[in-house]
Amino acid sequence: MNLLGIHALVWAGDVTPGSMEKIIRQSRQAGFGLVEFSLHEPEPLDVAGTRALLAEHGMQVACSRGLAFDADVSSEDPAVVARGRALLVQAVELTHALGGSYFGGVPYSALGKYPGPPTALGRAHVVETLRELSAMAKAKGVTLGLEVVNRYETNLLNTARQALGLIDEIGADNIVVHLDTYHMNIEEVDFVQPVLACGDRLGYVHVGESHRGYLGSGTIDFSGFFKALAKIGYQGPITFESFSSTVVAAGLSNNLAVWRNLWDNGMDLACHANSYVKALAQGAGLGVTGRPY
Ligand code: MN
Repeated sequence: MNLLGIHALVWAGDVTPGSMEKIIRQSRQAGFGLVEFSLHEPEPLDVAGTRALLAEHGMQVACSRGLAFDADVSSEDPAVVARGRALLVQAVELTHALGGSYFGGVPYSALGKYPGPPTALGRAHVVETLRELSAMAKAKGVTLGLEVVNRYETNLLNTARQALGLIDEIGADNIVVHLDTYHMNIEEVDFVQPVLACGDRLGYVHVGESHRGYLGSGTIDFSGFFKALAKIGYQGPITFESFSSTVVAAGLSNNLAVWRNLWDNGMDLACHANSYVKALAQGAGLGVTGRPY
């Protein structure tokens, strides 16, 4: 079965206790079984309280983050790499502390437009850092995901093939590819070939529309994508991701270039996405569920 997930930024852009309660309760109400938290600004996070809320509502958790240009493991500068590595270690520890077993996003790069292509030294720093991080994560039962994003958000992994190549180079068995339809729409040849190329190394999926708003109101071929997932026997989460200026996370929203209002009502958006994904995924032969237990 594929567990339906939802990104917390549909509900709130911070991690205060009040926001965490709202995020978890409303995710459950809208029919999702997993919630994904961004760990970009994890400071006020109450780990024990959040874990209790997840248990109370019967929700699973996944975490994600990207890096910044002053804390970038793909930098040539060892001091910048070290700052990035520290953020990643913290993120894996938080994921484990929250009861999660998946940490993904862009742990290999700053989240933003680079002025040039990656360098050989920078790439070597990524391989070295993720090799260490994957060993540390494995000891905690955490799988790492490398989300393939578009060229304006990283210069390193813009296609599934590039992600597979980097994972081969790192040589760890607890690193998976994470595909996102919004990014695939910009960079890949279609929504099928990248999925088939990944096969059982695809471990996490984001469904997002071409403008990151209501599913079905843009140009993404979700039907083709879900059929490809069914073809490889995909068993991982399917997490809905959408951003609007209605809900803002100070740093992350700017990194993702969320400049306009695509929706006002998160609950309406989320319920629509839940029905939409269920209908198309089930039609394609995937067994989707919003109930993790
Ligand atoms: Mn995504």
